[in-house]
Amino acid sequence: MQERRQTKQRTALLEALAHAEEPLSAEQLFSKLQPQFPRLALSTVYRNVERMVEEGAVQKELTEGGVSLYGLQDRHGHYLICLNCQKKVRLTHCPLEAVEKQLSEETGFSIESHNLTLYGTCPSCREKEKKNEKT
Ligand SMILES: [Zn+2]
Ligand SMILES: [Zn+2]
Repeated sequence: MQERRQTKQRTALLEALAHAEEPLSAEQLFSKLQPQFPRLALSTVYRNVERMVEEGAVQKELTEGGVSLYGLQDRHGHYLICLNCQKKVRLTHCPLEAVEKQLSEETGFSIESHNLTLYGTCPSCREKEKKNEKT
């Protein structure tokens, strides 16, 4: 019985993620699932979704504020990746709306989505580099 309930929760979690436009935090997932599972605990959601990350079914990323967000394969996203510590930061605002519109006019393509990844060095790694230079 216990196991069956867990499977149902995992299915519901995946469905919630599949229907979400943007990656969700554990709290957001929790509030989406609560009507269906009134006795659900936030810690259970967190544990389940973390396990799915380990299994590779779900992608995890950090916001600029350090909150974990969970999502399925991204169809629309913009990221900064630190080449030093591999930290991945998601940009919350789309910087490409104007570019998309212009490209669409230029090429005649109807553009549905895009992914953008920028590589560099994060503030804390830059800080460390600076300190190393001094010594
Ligand atoms: Zn870094
Ligand atoms: Zn965008």
